[in-house]
Amino acid sequence: MTSSLWQQELKKCVKCGACMAVCPIYRQTGREEMVARGKLNLIERLNDKNELPPGWIDAIDNCLLCCSCEENCSKGVKITEIIADARHRQTEQLGLNPIKKSAFSLLKNRFLSLPRFLKAGSFLQWLLWRRLPRHSGLVRRLPLPGLDEKTVIPSLPRRHLDDYLKKKQTASGLKPVLYFPGCATRYLYPQMGLDLLYVLERLGFKGVVPEELNCCGMVTWGSGDQKSNQELKERNLETFRKHSDIKDIVTGCASCGHALKEYEDLPKECEILDISEFLFRHREKLEQLVGAKQLDKKITYHDPCHLRKGQGITSQPRWLLKLIAGENFIEMRHPERCCGAGGTFGLSHKEISREILAEKAHDTDATGAEIVTSGCPGCLLQLTEGAVVADSKWQAQHPISLLADLLRRGVS
Ligand code: SF4
Ligand code: SF4
Repeated sequence: MTSSLWQQELKKCVKCGACMAVCPIYRQTGREEMVARGKLNLIERLNDKNELPPGWIDAIDNCLLCCSCEENCSKGVKITEIIADARHRQTEQLGLNPIKKSAFSLLKNRFLSLPRFLKAGSFLQWLLWRRLPRHSGLVRRLPLPGLDEKTVIPSLPRRHLDDYLKKKQTASGLKPVLYFPGCATRYLYPQMGLDLLYVLERLGFKGVVPEELNCCGMVTWGSGDQKSNQELKERNLETFRKHSDIKDIVTGCASCGHALKEYEDLPKECEILDISEFLFRHREKLEQLVGAKQLDKKITYHDPCHLRKGQGITSQPRWLLKLIAGENFIEMRHPERCCGAGGTFGLSHKEISREILAEKAHDTDATGAEIVTSGCPGCLLQLTEGAVVADSKWQAQHPISLLADLLRRGVS
């Protein structure tokens, strides 16, 4: 954001306080500097030399970038963009947190790459972590700094999505769509990616997954590392341009979809689509495929912030869940409320994140559902932790995996 655009956006705020009603951090803390209005007030006090005013770090770091304030702001202030920009200014002065700095260089470095690092971790993870009995994910074996006994981390698989794809046979004559799996699906939840590709195939599409795709950049943008964000964006755009004969770019990750939709200079006529949007466009065929098959488990749904507030997508996932579960799909109270994950926020601000998560777990419990669904791998991990914290039995799953399981029934 340029300085003049930044000033222009800040001036749009009329201090009405409508953002207070929806901010999850404000709901927990009741502190003015935690809500968008308070943060914008503080940001306005930044002088020409970019000297950070007192209380800056606490206020600017304490944000999930959940877009709830933005959705509720009648003046259309680009709040999350301003906060991400404020983090960038902070980073320029104080440098990036060393853990994030190392993680982001792994994201960008093709030689010392993230997949190699995670694969090495998959062999060693059992020394420090143990599998959760009822859920996917791991919890610590021994005391570890910053992580309590209920913190859930994903289990690192030995094979990534790309490894499976090397051996995957696809039927001929299918129409290509470009599939952007995102890092979480690619390296942590490869089955989710295979499920999505399976559904595409049943609909007559071949999901093309170029190996050179990079992280969407959401995590670097949210951390104020604009240089890395720009680099990742450029690399992805280069890949999209290479495949510009394919017009639909689908993703099953709400955060990736939100980040990719913000890319300027997408190849002409190319469109980024969340998988729920894509399936809705092909609903006639999908409804035929599903036919009378139906899930016999009660399910509920949590709106990922980056899908609902970031992309305005609410009806398509619900259409899909009603299609596969019928009356067994039950809405929870406040499905729109953030789950408290917020990228790395759940790790850096454990206490507040947990309080927000406890509300979500309570709303999930109240539905009596066996499965809580959400179209974002980050939310799914947080919801799994929610079940552990609340000592509940429900599991967290992506709608695409439930759909794939249903379509596989009766297919040999
Ligand atoms: S809702 Fe928008 S205009 Fe009102 S105080 Fe919050 S940021 Fe400012
Ligand atoms: S983005 Fe979310 S957490 Fe951050 S100020 Fe807005 S409502 Fe609060």
